[in-house]
Amino acid sequence: MQKVKLPKVNQFGFFEIRLESIGGLGANVAGKIIAEAGVVGMGFNGSNFASYGSEKKGTPVSSFIRYCDADRPVRINSPVVEPHILGVFHENLVARLPIMAGVKPDSIIVINTDKNPHTAREYLRLVGGRVITVDAIKIAYEEKVRMNSVMIGAITRAMEFMDKDAMKEAIRETLGKKYENQLKANLRGFEAGYQQVEIADFDEDGRFPFIPFKESTSQWGYLNAPIGGVVIEAGSSVIKNNQSSRQGKIPLFHYDKCIHCGMCETTCPDYCFKFIPKEDEKTNKVQMFNQGLDYQYCKGCLRCVDVCPVEALTEELEAEHEIEKISVRL
Ligand code: SF4
Ligand code: SF4
Repeated sequence: MQKVKLPKVNQFGFFEIRLESIGGLGANVAGKIIAEAGVVGMGFNGSNFASYGSEKKGTPVSSFIRYCDADRPVRINSPVVEPHILGVFHENLVARLPIMAGVKPDSIIVINTDKNPHTAREYLRLVGGRVITVDAIKIAYEEKVRMNSVMIGAITRAMEFMDKDAMKEAIRETLGKKYENQLKANLRGFEAGYQQVEIADFDEDGRFPFIPFKESTSQWGYLNAPIGGVVIEAGSSVIKNNQSSRQGKIPLFHYDKCIHCGMCETTCPDYCFKFIPKEDEKTNKVQMFNQGLDYQYCKGCLRCVDVCPVEALTEELEAEHEIEKISVRL
């Protein structure tokens, strides 16, 4: 039986949520859990599906959730165009993709960021509405969980009609079966995400315009794609930017510990490190010396940290460092 009435619905009778993320952050699973909590726990009718490209870590992912009253059939199965709630799992997406499209002055944005809602509103260029910020990466790091449970907590806070226990039950059902040993930590992450939010409301003051949703179409089709499906863009070139693939962690280089063995450079899939030839003071021979890495190309896989034999590379939180200052231009 349906427990409560939905606070608002669109012209088709749906309350809609869109999650914007990158592969590897768990937005797909989060979408399933949020949909299940609404249907099983709250008694709504609902649906969920995700859209992603090559299912590769770091590539854009969207997940769409719809709720409607229990007596209404769900006959729409298209992307959510004008969400009542937009969940942004990775703030770098804002600058790279039109994820704010379709967000209306009465929408709620839940964004993973270490900034406050006022700063977030500026870079989101939000027409108006409610901004809820949560430092999901930091919480996930502290609680040793994946950040999707933290984001589910913050999104539950945004849905004032949602019973918190219904969401917890959906987490137990979905994550408890697969990752039983991590269930307690995930529930802790959920609770922290629910509690540790900052909320601010903004009037539609005309500073930023409404951006209509436009379905993205591929620039290559069967008429113009290169034969054999060749990727014609260069890999680690100046136009390539891997920053939005990182999931909040970076390798940090410590020059004083480095023995310049080259293991990191050999291992790095994106050739991020800069080595220059210099005369070695001890041997008087010219050798290659590691200067650090260019974070523009670093996707944060942390393989270099694993292989470094002397801990000259350490795993750190990206938010605690000024990337521009520690980056070495290739
Ligand atoms: S693997 Fe470690 S020690 Fe070797 S060059 Fe890289 S940072 Fe330096
Ligand atoms: S984390 Fe290390 S190995 Fe991975 S892309 Fe960045 S520099 Fe290369």
